[in-house]
Amino acid sequence: MYYNSNTEIYLDGKFVKANEATTDLYSQTLHYGYGVFEGIRAYATENGTHVFKSKEHYERLKNSAKLIDIPFDYDVDELVAVTQELLDRNNLSDAYIRPLVFCDPNMTLARPNNVSIMISAWEWGAYLGDKQLRIGTSSYCRPHPRSIKIEAKVCGHYVNSILATNEAKDNGYDEALLLDSDGYLAEGPGANLFFEKNGVLFTPQLGNILPGITRATVLELAKELSIEVNQGLYLPEELASADSAFYCGTAAEVIGIKSIDNMEFPKEWNETLGSKVQKAYSQLVRKSHKTLNTTH
Ligand code: PMP
Repeated sequence: MYYNSNTEIYLDGKFVKANEATTDLYSQTLHYGYGVFEGIRAYATENGTHVFKSKEHYERLKNSAKLIDIPFDYDVDELVAVTQELLDRNNLSDAYIRPLVFCDPNMTLARPNNVSIMISAWEWGAYLGDKQLRIGTSSYCRPHPRSIKIEAKVCGHYVNSILATNEAKDNGYDEALLLDSDGYLAEGPGANLFFEKNGVLFTPQLGNILPGITRATVLELAKELSIEVNQGLYLPEELASADSAFYCGTAAEVIGIKSIDNMEFPKEWNETLGSKVQKAYSQLVRKSHKTLNTTH
């Protein structure tokens, strides 16, 4: 599904066959989840393949590494160029790109001296599908920002996301909604949350969530569309009385939420602010990159 015998990945400065690449089973990342990664999307545009907000993703990757003391001194522009080459080599245009920074063999709990980077890419449809989601509030909360670096995209943090996803699916929902440790709305296992009330959008403030690049894009689009957005601490009751809601993320893009804990939102999706943002997002990511480069 992710690769075949022709697929190439980028590994520490070289392009190698995915099925010939090897790694060390004593890696600190494999044992302790101590590594960082990204999820990026490329789109076919009139001017060829464009990697959406490539720079922003690699800047977040570098920042994630820095935040958790992983030494990673790659240049962002180099990573951007390597990614474009990776897509060309694999003949991919509409693709999902997964860079992973992983550590050397080290069974201690001290920071590593050396790390590796691998970048892979594959064709992947919308991660949460294109139907409106039925979500359920998770019994798991997002990790407390005093326990981890919540704004870093760290491998080990995703155990929390996997537990919440399993629980939601076992309970018959499409996806989970996690609160923060104080009981305020936080985010999905792999997406940020927005909801609409009386013609205004609301989204949880930064501090207890991953600062999503799609979330930032939605804020930009809302400004262009003259939609007011408030960022703050919101309780689950505020979501329960909302007119509509949506999730957004690189893999999921912008996807409507039908219900929370089996309570349906009253607005028809096509009439929501989320639907407007969804259309604008879809157009933006597929816009020719000549135009994009001047604005982003
Ligand atoms: N929250 C979490 C926990 C995520 O894993 C993701 C996906 N990276 C997001 C939000 C959305 O972030 P982005 O828009 O940068 O993909």
